[in-house]
Amino acid sequence: MIGTNRSRDDHAAPLIVADSITVAYGTDPVISDVNLTIEPGDLIGIVGPSGSGKSTLLKALLGGIQPRAGTVTRRKSLTVGFVPQVEKIDWNFPVTVAECIGMARASGWRTPWISKAERVEITDVLDRLGLQGLGSRHIRDLSGGQQQRVFLARALFTGAEVIFLDEPTSGLDVRTRHEVLHLLGDLNSEGVTIVLSTHDLNGIATHLPTIVCLNKRVIGAGAPEDVLVPEVLEQTYGSPMQILEHGGMRVVVDGGPDSSVLPFRRASGDGVGS
Ligand code: ADP
Ligand code: MG
Repeated sequence: MIGTNRSRDDHAAPLIVADSITVAYGTDPVISDVNLTIEPGDLIGIVGPSGSGKSTLLKALLGGIQPRAGTVTRRKSLTVGFVPQVEKIDWNFPVTVAECIGMARASGWRTPWISKAERVEITDVLDRLGLQGLGSRHIRDLSGGQQQRVFLARALFTGAEVIFLDEPTSGLDVRTRHEVLHLLGDLNSEGVTIVLSTHDLNGIATHLPTIVCLNKRVIGAGAPEDVLVPEVLEQTYGSPMQILEHGGMRVVVDGGPDSSVLPFRRASGDGVGS
């Protein structure tokens, strides 16, 4: 960057660095010795089976839980947003979409009122996320995909530079999943750094530029073509997997080349109604 005061290094400074972190709730570590650097503009998927520590890692990166060992360093005055798993949100909270977004910026419970200027901004952010016209709808009366986008809207409304999403497509149908993925791709190309967790390899992970395979520790990290390989997947998921190429895409299939079919047997007597 010639002709500016800002040095290149400054511009490229990482947003968040996890340096060899170990996190535990009780005595046994849930994740161990995890190193992860989040750079501006990243779109990273943390991939692993249920219980592998994905949500815990997100919480540690956000600062919601302190590591037992190692350090998490966030760039000074970094603004982050968090989009929780749709199934874990209590939607009985009596607010409208616009209020829900507006409250994200309120500095306390005494000022829940939305100013005129903020209302315009909220309308803009709703438009940007395909939620136009839903500002006065109760959040309870939205579809799963829409509810999630309300949380994304909150994050954008607060000007978050990094947005974390925990399992953003679980519980969504295929079409909504595609919409969410496209939306995240668009936001990322507009400069928002995105970190998400998912257990869904083919639905999401294969579409992302960077994947981190996690199972209590980082098994592999990098581009899908480097990480979605049988050795890494087997260590991550604990069972053999094959990779197929399909129309230029990598598709992960259960079972290695030698694995037998699952041991289900057809009930004897075969016929219907016997
Ligand atoms: P994932 O998101 O990959 O499913 P989690 O990070 O939620 O994994 O959980 C990793 C492990 O930590 C699991 O064994 C889970 O039971 C345990 N765990 C998660 N949250 C807590 C908690 N608040 N207290 C105790 N154990 C927890
Ligand atoms: Mg989780």
